[in-house]
Amino acid sequence: MNNVLLSLENVRKRFEANTVLNGISLQVLSGEIFFLLGPSGCGKTTLLRVIAGFCQPDAGRVILDGEDITFRPAWERHIGLVFQNYALWPHLTVWENVAYGLKLRRLPGKFIQERVEEMLKITKLSPQKNLYPPQLSGGQQQRVALARSLIVRPRLLLLDEPLSNLDAKFREEMRQEIKNIQKATGVTMVYVTHDQREALTMAHRLAVMNTGEISQIGSPWHLYFSPENRFVADFVGVMNFLPGRVFAIRAGDIQVETPEGLLVAEVSRNFTVAQPVEVAFRPESVSFRPGQVNIFRATIAETEMGEGVIKVTALTPGGHRLFVNCSLEYGRRLEWGDQIVFSVPPNRVLVFPG
Ligand code: ATP
Repeated sequence: MNNVLLSLENVRKRFEANTVLNGISLQVLSGEIFFLLGPSGCGKTTLLRVIAGFCQPDAGRVILDGEDITFRPAWERHIGLVFQNYALWPHLTVWENVAYGLKLRRLPGKFIQERVEEMLKITKLSPQKNLYPPQLSGGQQQRVALARSLIVRPRLLLLDEPLSNLDAKFREEMRQEIKNIQKATGVTMVYVTHDQREALTMAHRLAVMNTGEISQIGSPWHLYFSPENRFVADFVGVMNFLPGRVFAIRAGDIQVETPEGLLVAEVSRNFTVAQPVEVAFRPESVSFRPGQVNIFRATIAETEMGEGVIKVTALTPGGHRLFVNCSLEYGRRLEWGDQIVFSVPPNRVLVFPG
């Protein structure tokens, strides 16, 4: 418990009739990159503003480092912020922008000099230290924003969609950069995004939010492989869903009647016979070797080159569109209109209440 840095306890916020945060509780550990992931309007930014002190919750508590800061003004919280628009001083050089926070604190010149040089090194901005923000790329500007926030050694750094103004190539690069910077400084980050790829590649842990509530908290792989509900299953990664009805419950697995036939899933959740459900599986869970159960026959509607796989969209006789991944070796021989047969092992099939 003692490495919990930030704790939110049942935080609630309403804007008139609109309940934006409906009892949020979570804990962020010291030194981790914690993501708040969710669709637009789910309340991520509002939650970040509550943590920062720009928005007062109607109920609940914000505890930082063991101290209740719910009603502390923002400037006393010692929390850093990085937003999508970098808000740098255009008339100051990179060096001066980074030094700004220390100069405000009237610290000795030699101390400032050393700290700025160190921070420029960590953020790989030393070669650009005499340039002005308009002379920098978007990625470099965002690194200046990070350096400027980190130089005052905040207790916590909040990032709100910091990469959304960058084009795809810089975004990829910056993801790694931010991870490196976090490792070098050890700063705890709470990072808001609606981009699940960003969250999955960068987070130590993440909270998936849906309309003011937390759907699930865990590591990227935990949320990916063991989503607790349909919303997380759908929002994180690609998932195939089929409607169905529980046909039989046996020791260790259940059988579900679907438009594609009887499917078997090894699930532990409590279901009842005849209950409407949805069966789900990931594109990479399919096998093209002969299987005993969960066999699908489908027609290829589309193929697409992925990273190390060929992504196939296939149509079932029941009219369902399924996404399946196959090896480059196998997939390169497939064409539009071909018939494919694949199976899904019962331990890779998820079942959610319908
Ligand atoms: P996005 O990814 O689009 O930024 P978000 O998940 O960060 O979305 P919020 O910005 O927290 O969502 O907004 C959540 C809801 O709260 C929205 O319906 C928004 O209109 C509403 N909201 C936010 N701030 C205010 C405000 N100051 N006054 C009234 N409503 C607000």
